[in-house]
Amino acid sequence: MVRRRKRGRQSRERGAARRARPPGEGRRERWSAAATLAAVLVEVAVAAAVRGTYTYRVPGAIAPEVSLGQRVAVPFGRSARATGYVVGFPTSPPRGVELRDVVEVLDAFPPFTQRLIELIRWAEDYYLVPPGELLRAALPPGLNARGGAAAPRRRAVEWVAPASGAAEALPSLGRARAQRAVLEYLLARGRIPVEELRTAFPHGRPALVALARRGLVALAEEIPVASAGVLEGAAPAHALTPAQAEALAAVTAAFGSFSTFLLHGVTGSGKTEVYLRTIARAREAGKGALVLVPEIALTPQLSGRFRARFGDDVALLHSGLSPRERHAEWLRLRRGEARICVGVRSAVFAPVQDLAVLVVDEEHDGSFKQEDGPPYHARDLAVVRGKIEDAVVILGSATPSLETLDNARRGRYRKLELPSRVDDRPLPAVEIVDLRRIRGAGGRRAPPGLLSPRLADALGETVAAGQQAILFLNRRGYQTVMICESCGAEARCTECSVSLTHHARRGVLLCHYCGRTEPVGAPCAACGGVRNGVGVGTEQVEEAVRDLLPRGRVERLDRDAVSGADETAGLLARFARREVDVLVGTQMVTKGHDFPGVTLVGVVLADTALALPDFRAAERTFQLLTQVAGRAGRGAEAGRVLVQTFNPTTPAVACALSHDYAAFAEGEMARREGLGYPPFGRMMAARVEGSEAGARRCAEELARAARPALGDGVAMIGPAPAAIERIRGRTRWHVLFRAPTAAALRGVHRALGAVARRPPGGATIRFDMDPYSML
Ligand code: ADP
Ligand code: ZN
Repeated sequence: MVRRRKRGRQSRERGAARRARPPGEGRRERWSAAATLAAVLVEVAVAAAVRGTYTYRVPGAIAPEVSLGQRVAVPFGRSARATGYVVGFPTSPPRGVELRDVVEVLDAFPPFTQRLIELIRWAEDYYLVPPGELLRAALPPGLNARGGAAAPRRRAVEWVAPASGAAEALPSLGRARAQRAVLEYLLARGRIPVEELRTAFPHGRPALVALARRGLVALAEEIPVASAGVLEGAAPAHALTPAQAEALAAVTAAFGSFSTFLLHGVTGSGKTEVYLRTIARAREAGKGALVLVPEIALTPQLSGRFRARFGDDVALLHSGLSPRERHAEWLRLRRGEARICVGVRSAVFAPVQDLAVLVVDEEHDGSFKQEDGPPYHARDLAVVRGKIEDAVVILGSATPSLETLDNARRGRYRKLELPSRVDDRPLPAVEIVDLRRIRGAGGRRAPPGLLSPRLADALGETVAAGQQAILFLNRRGYQTVMICESCGAEARCTECSVSLTHHARRGVLLCHYCGRTEPVGAPCAACGGVRNGVGVGTEQVEEAVRDLLPRGRVERLDRDAVSGADETAGLLARFARREVDVLVGTQMVTKGHDFPGVTLVGVVLADTALALPDFRAAERTFQLLTQVAGRAGRGAEAGRVLVQTFNPTTPAVACALSHDYAAFAEGEMARREGLGYPPFGRMMAARVEGSEAGARRCAEELARAARPALGDGVAMIGPAPAAIERIRGRTRWHVLFRAPTAAALRGVHRALGAVARRPPGGATIRFDMDPYSML
């Protein structure tokens, strides 16, 4: 039976939680001081889409069990048992509400430490998101009621290597596709920690066992890891370059207090080696480390490198693991059995003990910004966490974000540079192919698949010389737009305001937002005319390369061609083994392995990302071009990069051409300053979704409520329909705010409180601080 009591709702005053902490709570790892009181009050963040926290009473019988950071079951609204998190101990009850009781304490062992709760409360405040949602997002999926069973304790590092004769035996595997893929990977990589294989092939265990049974792979175990040591002999112990040594010295000198470093170095300049050595130092001192990376599945070597160096001391947290594995890794951290965490975005909340070092690798990468679910930026939270934990933070990149560069210029971050590649190999020569020349004169047709004669020749030469090429285009499908020959109307999704993409192999027109399809031959919805495709996607590029090089081995890497981490790893392995000559794909080809055989990188159309209505479009384009160019010439042969573009003189393209980060940053900073965009000033988006009329009304209401809070440098952009006005039948509006400081934006947010609590028109409102997606 649901008790009908008035809900204990209070909007939390900022700082109230801090004042309400019980005495003695300042000492870490001691949370149960409150348990000595008879009737305990707890401040609870409920796992629901509500801002603020609620006060509950803990009945005497269970009071001794309650401690900070635990999960509890509480009655909430009409639910008799909602999950909540204990985030504080108020000393007096809020006035005018009848308190309800905590039903049950769910954890024997609190999943959150006090410092993690501090981090989440900071994020709640800054990102204007419900604390319960953040807390829920911070836990591994599948954490069970009692805080989890014993995690299987792994002691050894398992190594795996292809057996002699494995290459010859490959054909005999016939249709055992999984085994083939795993063996191909191993042949490409040699002897590696099984951890790397596990990252590359989340479902590869049975295949590995089968291969071992056939004698095609050799497994070995090493029992390593003295409590804090580095695995000697696990990695080649080279002497650091002077620049690396200087960076290591600067970072380790700062141990024990909070400071942030920007480690700026081109790919291959030895940044990862600096991370590894810094962490080794921290471990020697008995401290822990957290490493955030953008994407683990595409770069399995990275996890292998950490595991090879630190053995079982490393816990991995990423979505390629099953919920059980993730839970087990999380528990090893929480219990202090593993002291180093390597993970993606959400690992910024990982319960690493005695954190001394946080690393954010490729700090400029957009994937650190969470767009669905509670919006937060993991890089920025890593810096905040560093402050809370008195730890050093290293932000590494070849193309630092302008936000980070600005922080370095203002002296908030210390800049460390690794100016050249470790082996002094030159950066590849980048050359422009001006598509205006090819296409412009006399209205000639675009080259098939957008392969200019220059690029076609280069591909031919590369493959003839037995070398490899990567072609990058940031558009999936065969043709990106279908246009009616009679009336000129574009084929558009009925549910989303985007054009449909022609996928030739599947024979459909596909919406990339909602997945809706139409038969490819369907007549024009407006006039019944015949449709024709324009605009080149990766599928068409692949076809053009196959036509160009009939004997070449051509493969495509994008979300349509491969599904899941296993297939991706299998294809990348075949490319690494040089069984593929040309790899065509989306951004997926720009990350990933280090392919020594690649001497040519072609950017099919550099302009795709430039055209987006987004103030970061130029920065993203520069980063992408620099990253993809970095794939060329990593082996003994020199590499070259051909960039096809209609905008050869635009700075994002021109500076990538000359590998000139400084010049790009200089110009882009000036442009941003002129427009008042970040890093000069902050932004906040209010994103509205609803019916056509409802979304509009709601956005207009928000704007009206915001107007009195404007001025003093606070500007409002909009309300306006979003660039993609409709997704899945829901209309989207944005109201953007720009202000000199985050505090000013919070002022705007407060002014919008009443509207946000009861959005008019049945719409939903989401606030996004420091928004990344402008679509
Ligand atoms: P980044 O992270 O900047 O791309 P890495 O740390 O991965 O650079 O280094 C690139 C390559 O150079 C790796 O294969 C690494 O093992 C090697 N390497 C790194 N530092 C040194 C060094 N001081 N001497 C020799 N090789 C090194
Ligand atoms: Zn759609």
